[in-house]
Amino acid sequence: MSTARLPALFVSHGSPMLALEDGPARRFLTGLAAELPRPKAILVVSAHWETRAPVVSAAPEPATIHDFGRGFPQALFDIRYPAPGAPGLAARVAALLTAAGLPVTVHPDRGLDHGAWVPLGLAWPEADVPMTQLSIQPHLGPEWHRRLGEALRPLRGEGVLIVASGALTHNLGEFWGRDLDADAPDWVVEFGDWMHDAVTGGRTEDALAYRAKAPHAARNHPTEEHLLPLFVAMGVGTPGAAGRRLHSSHTYGVLAMDAYAFD
Ligand code: ZN
Repeated sequence: MSTARLPALFVSHGSPMLALEDGPARRFLTGLAAELPRPKAILVVSAHWETRAPVVSAAPEPATIHDFGRGFPQALFDIRYPAPGAPGLAARVAALLTAAGLPVTVHPDRGLDHGAWVPLGLAWPEADVPMTQLSIQPHLGPEWHRRLGEALRPLRGEGVLIVASGALTHNLGEFWGRDLDADAPDWVVEFGDWMHDAVTGGRTEDALAYRAKAPHAARNHPTEEHLLPLFVAMGVGTPGAAGRRLHSSHTYGVLAMDAYAFD
């Protein structure tokens, strides 16, 4: 039986409260698994694992990491997501990056951060799909992350779903004090629309140069670690192919929750 070729996904994980608060993005993620062939394993590239060089986790039973401040409710700290690990996938990721001339090390037991378990816990609540994480390198920028994705492309034909988890817009300094269902300000909408046109137009080079070309780029991403997973997903996709938008909404006005698939 041939293995279905899976798209690569970019999802916006927003605030950790996404795990508890209803809304359009939460409902999208809750229905996501039904839209896809069942993956054999999932590789998550989360904005919340930053390292100097790529690291992939071989944890056999990844712990649930509650990597957010004490100000969040206890119910969030009580969530456990006991998905099995994927040591075999970690070894395959390491081999692919090495073959592409990229550095990589394998971590023995790094768990799942909230960039992974919040969205994937909604999409696969049974926690029965093996999964692991690959780190990002914020100091190396968009093109580096596109190359990482390109090196991982063969996984799409091996039953592996790559989920890049960040945020289409992410200014936490402007997040505090806004209501969950606040309207998105113009500077958020204009950036999101620009990126949407670049991604769905297959304009990879423009997207990679977003910081110089997109309106309000630095205001939407004072630091770019939450956007870099998008470039990994673009790199996994077929070169020049248009991305497909799976979802678009905002939470707290300034956190765009858009999700894209790259075939
Ligand atoms: Zn985040």
